Amino acid sequence: MTTNKLTQLRNKIDEINLEILHLLNERAEVVHEIGEEKKKQGVNRFDPVRERESLDLIIKHHHGHFKTSTIQHIFKEIFKASLELQEDDSRKVLLVSRKAHPENTIVDINGETFGDGKQRFIMGPCAVESYEQVREVAVAMKEQGLSIMRGGAFKPRTSPYDFQGLGVEGLKILREVGNELGMSIVSEIVSPNDVELALDYVDVIQVGARNMQNFDLLKTVGKVNKPILLKRGLSATIEEFIHAAEYIISQGNNQIILCERGIRTYEKATRNTLDISAVPILKKETHLPVVVDVTHSTGRRDLLLPTAKAAMAIGADAIMAEVHPDPAVALSDSAQQMDIPQFHKFIQQLKTLQEKLA
Ligand code: PEP
Ligand code: MN
Repeated sequence: MTTNKLTQLRNKIDEINLEILHLLNERAEVVHEIGEEKKKQGVNRFDPVRERESLDLIIKHHHGHFKTSTIQHIFKEIFKASLELQEDDSRKVLLVSRKAHPENTIVDINGETFGDGKQRFIMGPCAVESYEQVREVAVAMKEQGLSIMRGGAFKPRTSPYDFQGLGVEGLKILREVGNELGMSIVSEIVSPNDVELALDYVDVIQVGARNMQNFDLLKTVGKVNKPILLKRGLSATIEEFIHAAEYIISQGNNQIILCERGIRTYEKATRNTLDISAVPILKKETHLPVVVDVTHSTGRRDLLLPTAKAAMAIGADAIMAEVHPDPAVALSDSAQQMDIPQFHKFIQQLKTLQEKLA
C-alpha cells in the first residue's frame, strides 16, 4: 500500500467519522423532541420494550464485519447517552453541589461560624460518663476559648456488650454543663425516634459514620431547624457521602457540616485511613463546611497533632478530637483520647500554626 493510498483511506475514515457525528447529533435532536413529548404526555423516559424493538431492528439489518454483540454494545451506549439527555437537569445537579450554590454555606452555631475561612475546634469526650467528667473537659476548653463541645450520649458500639452510652441522661449532662459554661453541644443521635427529643438538649445533631446511610435518620434530621454534623461512612466513597448530605438538604435543612473521619482500608497502622484529599474534594464539589476528625481516623494519640496540622493546612473548616480527664479509664476510645494537659498543648500548637497560616 502506498502512503498515498493510506492517506486517502484515512481521509475517508475522517469523513465517515464526521458523518457519524452529524447523524448522532441529528439523532440527539429527535431524542430531545421525544423527551419533550414524553414530558407532556407524562410517559416514563425509560422504555425497555421500545429499546428491545430498536435493538432487534438494528441486529436484523446488520451484515457487516462487526460481531452482533459489538454492534449491540455500541447502540446500547448510544441509547444510554440519549436517556441521560432526556434527564431532567434539576435531577442531575445536586442541591449540595457548588454547581447549584456557588457560595460557601456558612453554618452558624450560636455565633461560631463554620465555612467562612475561620478554622474552629470541636472537642470533648468520646462518651458522656458523668457530670464531673464532662465539666472538667469543658472547663479546660473554656480556658482555651473554645465553646463547641462534643460528647456521645448514644454510642454506636461495634459490640452490643460494650458501653452504649447514658442516653437521655447523657444529653441532660451535656446541656447542663453547656448552659453553665456557655458552650454549644454536639451529640450523636442514632435513631429517627430520638431526633425530636434531642432538639431540647443539643445545638448540633451528629449523624455518625455507622448511620451515614440510615436514610430514615437522614430524612428526619433534614426536617429539623438545627445544624447537622454528618460523618463519612466507614467504607463510603466521597460520592456516597455527598449523596447522604443530599438526603438531608433535600428535606429543607442546608445547615450541614461534613466530617471526614477516616475510611476502612487494608492499612492496619491506624484505626482508619484519614483521606486528607477528601477535604479539598468536598470543598470543591459542595458548598458545605468540612471538619476533620483526627481521633477516629487515626485511632492513635501520637498522630492527633500531625494529622490536625495537615487538616488545617489543607483547608479544613474545623478539627474534631476527643479529650478525657483520665483516658486510661475511659469507657470508650481510651487509646486515642487526649488528657487535659495534652489537650492544652495540642490547641496551643495548632493556634501557633493557625497564626503562621494566616
Ligand atoms: C463519634 O464521633 O463519637 C463516633 C462514634 O465517631 P464515628 O461515627 O466517626 O465512628
Ligand atoms: Mn470516640
